[in-house]
Amino acid sequence: MMGQDQGHIKKLVNLCRICGETGGETESNKYREEILALHSVDVSEDLPSVAPTKICGSCRKKIDCCKISVKEGKAITATLPVISIFLPHNPGSCQIFCRLKGRPKRQC
Ligand SMILES: [Zn+2]
Ligand SMILES: [Zn+2]
Repeated sequence: MMGQDQGHIKKLVNLCRICGETGGETESNKYREEILALHSVDVSEDLPSVAPTKICGSCRKKIDCCKISVKEGKAITATLPVISIFLPHNPGSCQIFCRLKGRPKRQC
């Protein structure tokens, strides 16, 4: 459905590309290389109608920490959140709409 799909995209806008929680604030493209290195996901290939284009402050901080470790050749000590997999809108069982209803509180 067209209307539902629009709602889906509106919800996506507020989500974090990495942890999938609400609070996306930084363009994920700015961290394209880091996300590719740490999560093996190329965000430049994401469709804006399928995956959020932003990352939250918490994930950004973790990427920033890891970025320094990678540069200095140190082991990555921060626990990285598992990157979320975003699927196109499915009217029957949409993960975005399902997730936002009574989802368990998760640490990013
Ligand atoms: Zn996040
Ligand atoms: Zn949806």
